[in-house]
Amino acid sequence: MLNQICHQLGTAPSLIRELFAYGLQQAAIVGAENVYDYSLGNPSIPAPAAVNQAICDILSDTDSIKVHGYSMAAGFEGTRTAIAENLNRRFGTNYKASNLFLTCGAAPALLSVIKALTVNSDSEIMAIAPFFPEYRPYAESNGAKLVVVPADTEAFQINMTALESLISPNTQGIIINSPNNPSGVVYSRQTLQTLAQLLSERAKEYGHPIYIIADEPYRELVYGNVEVPFIPEIYPDTIVCYSYSKSLSLPGERIGYVLVPDCVTDSSDVYAAVAGAGRAMGHVCPPTLIQLVIERCANEVPDLAAYDENRLLLHGALTEMGYECAKPDGAFYLFVKAPNGDANAFSQKAKLEHNLLVVPGDAFGCPGYMRLSYCVSNEMIRRSLPAFKTMIEAYQ
Ligand code: PLP
Repeated sequence: MLNQICHQLGTAPSLIRELFAYGLQQAAIVGAENVYDYSLGNPSIPAPAAVNQAICDILSDTDSIKVHGYSMAAGFEGTRTAIAENLNRRFGTNYKASNLFLTCGAAPALLSVIKALTVNSDSEIMAIAPFFPEYRPYAESNGAKLVVVPADTEAFQINMTALESLISPNTQGIIINSPNNPSGVVYSRQTLQTLAQLLSERAKEYGHPIYIIADEPYRELVYGNVEVPFIPEIYPDTIVCYSYSKSLSLPGERIGYVLVPDCVTDSSDVYAAVAGAGRAMGHVCPPTLIQLVIERCANEVPDLAAYDENRLLLHGALTEMGYECAKPDGAFYLFVKAPNGDANAFSQKAKLEHNLLVVPGDAFGCPGYMRLSYCVSNEMIRRSLPAFKTMIEAYQ
């Protein structure tokens, strides 16, 4: 006998991984220059030079235990203080090291928060379509239900009418991911204020807090001066899950955090439950070396020029050809409407006829759309454009 949830997760195919593997296979046959792989969201801009320098300095200056030993479960005080100071400077807050719990990226941060909020099998965690597919296993493996709010396919903000009808006394938390994977859309202040108002009213009515779980790996990836509102400022019961995977191009180093501000209802209990959830999952501490790097590099910012150039090129070219696309203000994704509404058929045809790899939106809870990750080379985008053109012409 095996745990069926785990077995199913371990055997379920991942379309994104399959497309990526197909791309590698085809590259060996037809040449890498003839494969146009928009499947994976693997950051392509280099990590800031200061990060690499910090790694070298720390390795040459510091003794083995300090670099390679365990830290306390919550992470080094110095690293957490550096992060708190960075947030305080940018958002006018007053966070301390004790508000932060370091994790191996956003994935375990989300898992820990969801586990901490799952009281029993009736507990519900909400997600807004389109959403990062891993939210489902994060919720369901913890015994919670994932309740999905259908997409607002007009503006890819939040379908408030649907949300209002789906929220219930069992709603423990609602995951808000902005800038969004897969749509690339940033939720406006107006959207977040309306959400905050609704959640406050329902929390009052139900007699318990409804937490926003702000999933923020793309916070820093925003273009053209668009505002990414800081959600704890708008809704006090917000727990932030952050990651340096995308902002500093460090997904393989596994570093991020949970932020539990003091203004969160029962904040010290929430923090303790997050720490306990991490403990229950065998989360001892994130890698020590990268914690020390973040302590030195907490104020580093990414150079987004290459992503922005890709975004403008791809969005401009596709819309000119007649494709429709969600407003791409953030992250590194375009969410494109399939010309005949069948994204699976489009993806399959593009793959087989052009080695053009795009991910159908079904996995993100939004059929009929396709995700294109533009964290790729600018040349690849240019080379892929004739394939996009041939594809849309086939549907016209
Ligand atoms: N949340 C979203 C929306 C993501 O897109 C990702 C990764 O792609 C994660 C969380 C997990 O990120 P991490 O690498 O920090 O675990």
